[in-house]
Amino acid sequence: MMSRTLTLAQEMSFSQIDDDGVWREDAACRGVDPNLFWANDTAPAKAVCSECLVRKQCLDYALALGPSRRAGGVWGGKDEREIRRMRRRTLEERRSNAG
Ligand code: SF4
Repeated sequence: MMSRTLTLAQEMSFSQIDDDGVWREDAACRGVDPNLFWANDTAPAKAVCSECLVRKQCLDYALALGPSRRAGGVWGGKDEREIRRMRRRTLEERRSNAG
C-alpha cells in the first residue's frame, strides 16, 4: 500500500507494470496507421478502440505507464485528458485508502 507521504509524482514513479504484452496480438489497431491515435480528432481512433477485444488491458497499461513514459494518444478508447483524469482519481483513492 502506498504511503500517504508520497507525492503524486513519486507515486507515479512507483507504478508497477505487470504486462507480458500478449494482449497486443488481439489489438484492433494492428495494421492501422498509428498517427490516427495521436491525431487532434480522437473520434476515429476511439471508433477503432470500441471494436477492440483488449480495450481493458490497453487502458490498464496506459494508466500504469503514467504520463512521463507515455507520449499521449488514445489508449483503451480514452484520450489523453480522460486517461490523466482516471489516473489522478486512482491515485487519490489510493492515498485516501492509505490514510
Ligand atoms: S484499445 Fe485501442 S489503442 Fe488499445 S489495443 Fe485496442 S485498438 Fe489499440
